[in-house]
Amino acid sequence: MNALAPASHFSPASKAPTVVEERGQRQVFCGLTSIVWLHRKIQDAFFLVIGSRTCAHLIQSAAGVMIFAEPRFATAILEERDLAGMADVDDEIDRVVERLLERRPDVKLLFLVGSCPSEVIKIDLSRAAARLSRRHSPDVRVLNYTGSGVETTFTQGEDMCLAALAPCLPAEPANAQRSLLVVGALADVVEDQFARLFDVLGIAPARFLPMRRAADLPPVGPNTSFLLAHPFLRDAARALEERGAKRIDACFPLGAEGTTAWLRAAAEAFGVAPEKFEAAVAPARARALAALESRRATLAGKSVFFFPDSQMEPALARFLSREMSMRLVEVGTPYLHRQHLAQDLALLPPDLRLTEGQSLDDQLDRCRAAKPDLVVCGLGLANPLEAEGFTTKWSIELLFSPIQGYEQAGDLAALFARPIERRARLEV
Ligand code: SF4
Repeated sequence: MNALAPASHFSPASKAPTVVEERGQRQVFCGLTSIVWLHRKIQDAFFLVIGSRTCAHLIQSAAGVMIFAEPRFATAILEERDLAGMADVDDEIDRVVERLLERRPDVKLLFLVGSCPSEVIKIDLSRAAARLSRRHSPDVRVLNYTGSGVETTFTQGEDMCLAALAPCLPAEPANAQRSLLVVGALADVVEDQFARLFDVLGIAPARFLPMRRAADLPPVGPNTSFLLAHPFLRDAARALEERGAKRIDACFPLGAEGTTAWLRAAAEAFGVAPEKFEAAVAPARARALAALESRRATLAGKSVFFFPDSQMEPALARFLSREMSMRLVEVGTPYLHRQHLAQDLALLPPDLRLTEGQSLDDQLDRCRAAKPDLVVCGLGLANPLEAEGFTTKWSIELLFSPIQGYEQAGDLAALFARPIERRARLEV
């Protein structure tokens, strides 16, 4: 496929690929990693990890690429003596929070983030959060969630955080007009672009979760329709549904096709006329298509192998195969939400090898045998695979970079094209 037809002319494949479930050794970051992008999004929030030195190192190194004068995350490291008695641990947490809030009066929302040392699991962080919330109300709200590597992979940290926020959202008034809620942390620039498009489409009010400031919690209720920005928000979606909100089924907004399908799903749910929709999106979609075209020479016909990491893999694979004409060798994902991803799955080749979960050695064997042109994987696998001669892309970069929406479509393609171009230069 060399040129993209308007998205309305796309017809999904008749049958979504079969999912092969794998169990075994896995290699994925834990949910604490999400703090690195979440703390930039909610500008007056603070993330206090209750954890070990390992947790502190993980966050420091994951965030190490960014220099902050006043970072809005920290780790309260549990020492041996803290563990002697649980009552002491409660006091210790209270003391740390007290000190932190004294030093940082700008903090309005504090997350206590659990981790995996067994001593931390024994602490009742929800009780600690409720106690501290009462003590510091109304200036600071304290919530808790887990980022433990036993329970979460790196993108699930965001899911847990948003699921913890959902019960705190104010109830929409009984006679509230229908509203749209976009769920999932997006870079501010992307959020602003979407807000402008919703405005042109006449979809109002359109709000975003997470919000930029703690005081701006969006209201929710039966008149709220929500649109997921990421495929990894299972618990957050469930928590919003428990508040009466309804999910709009859509593709994820990656690439020109994905963004059009995502916006169109909202437009249809809000009764926007097709002509109005076309007029509103046409200029930005044309820019996206032109930007994608400039990367096609590098990517078209190349093969790609996804190791399971971010849960974004099926949506990214849909983008690469349909919009960039890449060949999908295998698409692995740590967890597949069949309902949330239904629209993307229907657009994947029906004979694709799609795996859920991980059996690392088996997958490495298949990857080596297939010799793909590009491997998308976690940091831990990238270096050894590069040493073996593979060209890799770190999947975590796809979370740190603005990639959703029309204006970012070219950047998304570039993230995959660059390693291939770099390898080609090295080989010359
Ligand atoms: S939460 Fe668990 S997996 Fe994550 S850094 Fe801490 S100890 Fe390691």
